Amino acid sequence: MAEEQADGRRDASPQQQEELNPFKIAMQQFERAADYLQLDESMRQVLKHAKRQLIVSIPVKLDGGETRVFEGYRVQHNIARGPAKGGIRFHPQVTLDEVKALAAWMTWKCATVGIPYGGGKGGVICDPKSLSRNELERLTRRYAFEIAPIIGPDRDIPAPDVYTDEQTMAWIMDTISMIRGHTELGVVTGKPVALGGSQGRAEATARGGLYALREACRVKGIELSAARIAVHGFGNAGANFARLVAADGARVVALADSHSGVYAEGGIDVQAALRHKAETNSLQGLKGAKEIAPLEVLEVDCDILMPSALENSITLANVGNVKARIIAELANGPTTPGADRELAERGVLLIPDILANAGGVTVSYYEWVQNQYSYFWTEGQVNEALEKTMRAAFDAVHAIAQQHDTDMRTGAYILAISRVAEATRVRGIFP
Ligand code: GLU
Repeated sequence: MAEEQADGRRDASPQQQEELNPFKIAMQQFERAADYLQLDESMRQVLKHAKRQLIVSIPVKLDGGETRVFEGYRVQHNIARGPAKGGIRFHPQVTLDEVKALAAWMTWKCATVGIPYGGGKGGVICDPKSLSRNELERLTRRYAFEIAPIIGPDRDIPAPDVYTDEQTMAWIMDTISMIRGHTELGVVTGKPVALGGSQGRAEATARGGLYALREACRVKGIELSAARIAVHGFGNAGANFARLVAADGARVVALADSHSGVYAEGGIDVQAALRHKAETNSLQGLKGAKEIAPLEVLEVDCDILMPSALENSITLANVGNVKARIIAELANGPTTPGADRELAERGVLLIPDILANAGGVTVSYYEWVQNQYSYFWTEGQVNEALEKTMRAAFDAVHAIAQQHDTDMRTGAYILAISRVAEATRVRGIFP
């Protein structure tokens, strides 16, 4: 309980003091691993700074006739190992610092799984749920036009993220193709299969998370088919994960979307939840489940927790109530560094975002390769390659974490930073 002072102010409790700025958190995570690597100050400077940050104004004619101007960003954090790569987010709470953090996390994510990309991210401050489909199309196309000078198959390749999907990518691909005068399939990934998208890309984040989770269960001696699982977030990653893990025989005991949570000790019928969400646009009122607050899903009695929503879900304020023994971050940045430390001390095995959700960008890489070759793979080929990549990355990160007697996040950063630092060293600094 915070102490009240004579002037009426309260001393900040540890929760109140906790750093929640995603970019500052990303820097703390970087520094921690850089210390293990004894990285020199010059290299730290180079790897911490975003290479390029573009801020654009996006005027959009709304259906009512008036024009509104939205602000958008595209940040390229690092391109030492290949073109920048990373999603585009449409959300009212987008900030430049958030996009910078997400771009840096992409750099480390691509290096962790060993795909030949740097890191980038984009975002537009908007509430996509309050825009019509036509307004969304105009916003997307104008944003694509504004960032066109810095994106392309060899420079920076966007993909879906929070509240963007394959339709968004189709509009961006078409806009860039119109500007360049030829079809530019490889300018974005996560496209519809009808338009050069890859088999398996839509569920790749979830499937990659499942492959990583199977490895974690092996390490922890937990039988996945007998485990109780809570999934916080019901977008592309969370909803597909719940479906896949339920098909594996696991018991999904809790689910949450941005407005409501549902809990059933005996297990939720995930197929029914998916149908309910599709029909009512909500999880609220799902039969056979008790309604709880979305954040309560993080605290239910379970063996495995999948934070699959936004940043800062598990913080010092609620980490004491988290009961899971394994946490796999399908969201980017869902755990604060303070909560991280506490979970590590308690022996919880946390698979960090830059590993747990890397399946999405891994299959994005396969899509880009297929686009370059104009030769397409079967779903079986995609999933087989994804499984190999995720298992190898998990094993490499786990071995490094053991070797340095540290947590999996720091292990992943040690692996990723050493790869990017090595590429930077051999390329040298221009001029
Ligand atoms: N937005 C996803 C992520 O955060 C996918 C990025 C991509 O496929 O480029 O990893």
